[in-house]
Amino acid sequence: MTRPIEKIVIVGGGTAGWMTAAPLIQRLGRACVIELVESTDIGTVGVGEATLPTVRYYNRSLGIDEADFIRKTKASFKLGIEFRDWGHVGNRFFHGFGDFGPSIEGRSPYMHWLRLKAADPNFPDYEEWSVATVLARQNKFTHPSGDRPSASNAYTYGYHLDASLYAAYLRDFACKRGVNHTEGKIIDIDLDAESGFIRAVRLTDGRQIAGDLFIDCSGFKGLLIEGAMKAGYTDWSEQLLCDSAITIPCARKDPLTPFTTSTAKPAGWTWRIPLQHRTGNGHVYSSHFMNHTDAEELLLEGLDGEALASSRRLRFTPGRRNKAWINNCVAIGLSSGFIEPLESTAIRLIESAVAGLLENFPDTSFRPQLAAEFNRQTALQYESIRDFVIMHYKLTGRRDSAFWRHCAEGPVSGALQHQLDTFKATGRVVVYDPNSFTEPSWVALYLGLGLTPESYDPFIDLLDEHELREHFLRIRQLIRQMTASTPLHGDYIMRHCLSDTVG
Ligand code: FAD
Repeated sequence: MTRPIEKIVIVGGGTAGWMTAAPLIQRLGRACVIELVESTDIGTVGVGEATLPTVRYYNRSLGIDEADFIRKTKASFKLGIEFRDWGHVGNRFFHGFGDFGPSIEGRSPYMHWLRLKAADPNFPDYEEWSVATVLARQNKFTHPSGDRPSASNAYTYGYHLDASLYAAYLRDFACKRGVNHTEGKIIDIDLDAESGFIRAVRLTDGRQIAGDLFIDCSGFKGLLIEGAMKAGYTDWSEQLLCDSAITIPCARKDPLTPFTTSTAKPAGWTWRIPLQHRTGNGHVYSSHFMNHTDAEELLLEGLDGEALASSRRLRFTPGRRNKAWINNCVAIGLSSGFIEPLESTAIRLIESAVAGLLENFPDTSFRPQLAAEFNRQTALQYESIRDFVIMHYKLTGRRDSAFWRHCAEGPVSGALQHQLDTFKATGRVVVYDPNSFTEPSWVALYLGLGLTPESYDPFIDLLDEHELREHFLRIRQLIRQMTASTPLHGDYIMRHCLSDTVG
């Protein structure tokens, strides 16, 4: 007989496990018992320190106070990513968060800028109209102000945070509201032979944990979704060559930058993520083009502060689980897939999966349409993000190593080819999934990597060119005035949300 879900078992206590537990207990607390099982012997992947702006909406839906969250996770603000040496060695551009201000006569500002740039190659770069980029270049930060969209508040922000402190923050949130936290290693999964549904998981000490719904947050191995459900994995290594990473924290260096830095290297790229108390560093590379020793050396020689621990090595296979929801098992986090960390999208995928589960929440009949819809949305988002990331490797003009030459020749999906061709020919941006990267992000990357459109929207020519030019220069002046009076990022944090344990 069909009844509501009464018991949810979450397997895994990494970022995904606790990001799932917190909203579930908030929404279902009275109706449902929620138990989270994790093995401290196995531990978590322990990386994942840069987010997209959407995590703010996730936090807000839990009622989390931002200043408290920033203090406790030793976070800093992230206005975007600075890309160095990506288009070619020496090239620098920003993927700033936010759009480029209100539309003009119903058309995006970037389309008008294309016209002005086509008429005058010396017209200033597009980034001068990205508030996030202008602030980031000056190491400044303030919260966007004003309710009505304007040129000077057309930006948004995410965070750099300590991943283990974020998981701990959400664990406290979830456990205070009633999530049962069980420590133990799962060694067996009890499946119903007839239905193929999971009945219980068994721990080393013999304990059985039964449930109606099982959420697999067990990391790369996908203990339930692969181990028991045999979902299968679509491997994207042909298109995304990086399969390894080395990470190491180093001492914090001033000024505290309000952006992540991604620097292209001969067989991949390095990241620099500034937190309040330290800087996170990593080198993501292809093991087919560089060995571990060289990759580590390259990372260490680029540190801008004293190393605070020894380095850690991680391996991954870019791709996604063929189905993230099968029967009564839903995979969230690394168990459902991983695209390499270039655009910091894994936490975003967790947010979407949790929201998707809440939207399609089942009862014990587990109508297959709910899983089908969840799987459709998940696949679309993974593939859209995959293509956005591949675009970085595809558009670069770098040919100075075997890795970059291989990237230039690698296959792209029909969808990405259509996106690239459309922008090049017409200046229009095609977005397949509005829940992933939207127009301003595609534009920032296309232009930053040097893809110049051959034409633009003919409607734009209906406006007077001189007036349009004056309008753009006025807006630039406004943005300059606004940023001149904005505090430095480090000072802003010190005043509003400095962690108690940072000097
Ligand atoms: P894990 O952290 O691996 O947690 C798995 C959990 O399952 C653990 O608690 C473990 O104990 C438990 N478990 C496993 N097996 C068992 C068992 N048998 N019994 C009991 N418990 C078990 N994401 C971003 O958004 N931004 C970034 O900047 C970013 N950078 C990254 C850089 C790299 C190199 C990598 C590899 C990933 C990065 N990510 C990033 C992804 C991010 O780290 C993950 O999405 C996030 O940490 C979630 O991991 P998880 O909780 O799914 O898995």
